[in-house]
Amino acid sequence: MMHCSGLMLIVMLVAYSLASPLPKPMPFPEISSLSFLQKSVVDYDRNVQLNLKQADPEVSPGMWEGDIAGLSFDTYYTWRLGLRFEVFPERRWKNATVPYHISHKYSSIDRETIQTALYTIGLMTCIDFVPYDGDAEDYLLIWPVEEPAGCWSFIGRTGGQQVLSLQPPDSQGPKCLGGPGKAIHETLHALGIFHEQSRADRDDYVTLNRENVIKPFLHNFAKQSLVNTTYDFEYDYASIMHYGTHFFSAGKDKPTLVPKRRDARIGQRDGLSRTDCYKVNKLYGCFERSPYEKLKYESFCDILGL
Ligand SMILES: [Zn+2]
Repeated sequence: MMHCSGLMLIVMLVAYSLASPLPKPMPFPEISSLSFLQKSVVDYDRNVQLNLKQADPEVSPGMWEGDIAGLSFDTYYTWRLGLRFEVFPERRWKNATVPYHISHKYSSIDRETIQTALYTIGLMTCIDFVPYDGDAEDYLLIWPVEEPAGCWSFIGRTGGQQVLSLQPPDSQGPKCLGGPGKAIHETLHALGIFHEQSRADRDDYVTLNRENVIKPFLHNFAKQSLVNTTYDFEYDYASIMHYGTHFFSAGKDKPTLVPKRRDARIGQRDGLSRTDCYKVNKLYGCFERSPYEKLKYESFCDILGL
């Protein structure tokens, strides 16, 4: 039976959505910072590229860890603790506010899916997503990049116009917009969160079957060093930032990651897990704002988190 505070939250959720109508498309030109991006796209063999085109759009862009833009092998090792804003303060969005613009290239249904993703994060955390007014220095441009297509994002705030790509549905399938889940995943990258299975302690929780990984992509399963790892939370199988069992797999019967806990499921793209929710709130200082906000966001995480 649902707790009465759960009902209260649902009422608040509905009120929140009614109070925040969808912004109108903006007429300003959309220029992307693709020159920066192109340098970071790994130039894979053509056959591998073709293989990837059939795969999940989250792995198909052919970037570092599949969907993370702007990272070379070297920079990954400096940036991999994107979560540590005390080390990389410039990567944190100022005042927990993210100006955003959703490209008018998307259909109204796709725009709604993206908007739902932003509302969900905005509801469960103190992150404030505000429509870009044309003046803000830094903003997220959500845009269906065609080359490389797929779902991908930079890690944390890069400064200036920051592209986040979500490939719209086509005749082959829903791509990144079958629901708000993949948009939530990429937005969490943009807020500064890495993949859960790249944690230093992941081998205690999942088994990596190296022989099942398509060779050029083994590096996508690299771990962070213990020295630099400062996670405050338990390993989270339920994270929306965890790879699924067959990411970069060489075949259907060849799982790449297998959870060590029997009943654990990995790779969900439905919504923020309870821990994802706590993590974002902690990273952006939401719990320290006031006792009221601490209680509010903790309740949202406990009740709405997966
Ligand atoms: Zn990702």
